[in-house]
Amino acid sequence: MDLGISGKKAIICAGSKGLGRGCAQALAEAGVNLVINARSSGPLEETAEALRGFGVSVTTVAADITSQEGRNAVLAACPAPDILVNNAGGPPPGMWSDWEREDFIAALDANMLTPIALMKACLPGMMERGWGRVVNITSQSVKSPIPVLGLSNAARAGLTGYVAGTARQVAPHGVTINNLLPGIHDTDRATALDSGVSRAENISMEDARAKREATIPARRYGTSEEFGAMCAFLCSERAGFIVGQNILLDGGAVNATL
Ligand code: NAP
Repeated sequence: MDLGISGKKAIICAGSKGLGRGCAQALAEAGVNLVINARSSGPLEETAEALRGFGVSVTTVAADITSQEGRNAVLAACPAPDILVNNAGGPPPGMWSDWEREDFIAALDANMLTPIALMKACLPGMMERGWGRVVNITSQSVKSPIPVLGLSNAARAGLTGYVAGTARQVAPHGVTINNLLPGIHDTDRATALDSGVSRAENISMEDARAKREATIPARRYGTSEEFGAMCAFLCSERAGFIVGQNILLDGGAVNATL
């Protein structure tokens, strides 16, 4: 299928590894020119070099996207994006009783207020040009809370509420906003979560992974490539009628009819 977005410009936040990189690669395969961001420049430059192999231009911005300076640097590198993929690292796990106000503020800054700030910066131009796509990487925790990820449950629910209203306000101008909700995917984040289980339950990493896989109807972790393919479709010309949706990619892990 021709996605119809060759030559468009995209910002991919937190895109040197994992799900962000999967999105960047799928968009590069579709001919989209990229500005990709992450904090560490080594892996970022390696990813950029690999993505240039698809024949698109790739600009890197090494910065913390959760800071105002980081966001300014990314927007300076791409002031008029057609596509915005919002992403950042997830908050740390813990117990509901662990977190103080500062922990919530940090989680809200990273996983709610950062994507909102970037949308506020990019949406007016997209609306003026009559075309735009925004995809926010959130989590399955929006549909089904993950007890040890209370900070993530809370911050991502806030972003989801904002998107639900905003998506309907920008849709008349040819701009869509949708959220992708990953279940467990085979990335560094999954390894970090598995090592938490391994330590807490005194079991091997293999056993921690096998235990988690047994809870997923697909009996495996998702891949960044699968995730990226859905992101590229949502960013495509073909997906213009998909507005304000929350799309689970979780191998069936969330046990719900709708
Ligand atoms: P990952 O493999 O650990 O990759 C994270 C990427 O984000 C890296 O490129 C990292 O590069 C970059 N990054 C992290 N914090 C950043 C910041 N403040 N500013 C700029 N770049 C930043 O993580 P992932 O698995 O792809 O997860 C992506 C998001 O999906 C996270 O929010 C995670 O909580 C969520 N999620 C993941 C899963 C899963 O199973 N993987 C499931 C549900 C939700 P640097 O470290 O160099 O900055």
